[in-house]
Amino acid sequence: MALIVQKYGGTSVGSSERIRAVAQRVKRARDQGHQVVVVVSAMSGETDRLIGLAKQIQERPVPRELDVLLSTGEQVTIALLAMALDALDCPARSYTGAQVHILTDSAYNKARIHDIDAVRVRADLDAGRVVVIAGFQGIDAAGNITTLGRGGSDTSAVAVAAALKADECQIYTDVDGVYTTDPRVEPKARKLDRITFEEMLEMASLGSKVLQIRAVEFAGKYKVPLRVLSSFDEGAGTLITFEEDTVEDAKIAGIAFSRDEAKLTVLGVPDQPGVAHKILGPIAAANIEVDMIVQNIAPDETTTDFTFTVHRNDYERALEILQGTAATLAARQVLGDAQIVKISLVGVGMRNHAGIASQMFGALAREGINIRMISTSEIKISVVVDQKYLELGVRALHDAFGLARPPQAARS
Ligand code: ADP
Ligand code: ASP
Ligand code: MG
Repeated sequence: MALIVQKYGGTSVGSSERIRAVAQRVKRARDQGHQVVVVVSAMSGETDRLIGLAKQIQERPVPRELDVLLSTGEQVTIALLAMALDALDCPARSYTGAQVHILTDSAYNKARIHDIDAVRVRADLDAGRVVVIAGFQGIDAAGNITTLGRGGSDTSAVAVAAALKADECQIYTDVDGVYTTDPRVEPKARKLDRITFEEMLEMASLGSKVLQIRAVEFAGKYKVPLRVLSSFDEGAGTLITFEEDTVEDAKIAGIAFSRDEAKLTVLGVPDQPGVAHKILGPIAAANIEVDMIVQNIAPDETTTDFTFTVHRNDYERALEILQGTAATLAARQVLGDAQIVKISLVGVGMRNHAGIASQMFGALAREGINIRMISTSEIKISVVVDQKYLELGVRALHDAFGLARPPQAARS
């Protein structure tokens, strides 16, 4: 007998038929003798609908009240799934995040989980019940409802699995695993049987929405065995593994991309100590995260041009702040571009293979794609390109690195 946490995403619980199908799958696991905890998302489209409603009332909804509103989406699905299980004679109980004390900090709309009280869940499991928990939500120390950011049910599931020391956390979704890249952009993308934890962390942080990054972080911290698989089909899905030895010969695991990028440039600022701090300080003070940074010396060697990227949602605010800073620095000009995207190659095999970057740049050049910014780390290379080149760029790189074919190594 194992303790399994199963998480079902929005599409997987998108209709009453789908909820019944999920109940069947949950019951099957229980009939096999496992203890099962289920974490569910809101029905597909529901969180967007609620955000839309809030925005009809207030352009920038009060964060606390937005979380009260958004948490209702998941409350609907836990109740419906518990009913569907009951209809199959499978004893079940549903709980909101607050009811099982998913304790978070107070950062509304992007709260982090601190602690989960596993006692109540264990009592139900020991009594033979399936426990159904609302994903994406928690409660802060003062009793306020919080939510964990888009895609946060993945993190709820992994956190619950960690708290219960579950044998496996299974993320059921609308694809049958983690692919070499988003199969919606590259139909030739190939499902991976395994991906290393480090690679999955990079893929998620670089934009692959198949798992929320915090879910992967949590899995790493508490060594939760994590698997991504389809709620529609059978199959073993993709295992996120902590061992690199089975995958060492594959250079690249996959390609991630993010459409949520924007770039800001300030031209002709004095080239002297403290300038980067003067430019980025006010941005950081406004709680805006900066990703890539590039600074080039102008030909006169007394001024410099400074470029950085931010999340597209922060673009307008960052531009406003930068214009203010540029005036105090007597900069020549401020430029902004919200029509850019980031494409990244990820793979632990990069460590042992030289020339990946030049192969990447060559493949993009052959398609006439201009690279605007570059950043690298040990297991990833990212480029910023114009938005119109996203699909072309991803497919060109997928071909150039032969990702559609299984590599010779054991990673198939
Ligand atoms: P859920 O509602 O189940 O949480 P999501 O939409 O959040 O589902 O995540 C699943 C989607 O992630 C897929 O439909 C796919 O389009 C997208 N995706 C992005 N990158 C990848 C990848 N590398 N492998 C698989 N799916 C990916
Ligand atoms: N319902 C939330 C969202 O749409 C959380 C989730 O699905 O993981 O982002
Ligand atoms: Mg998701």
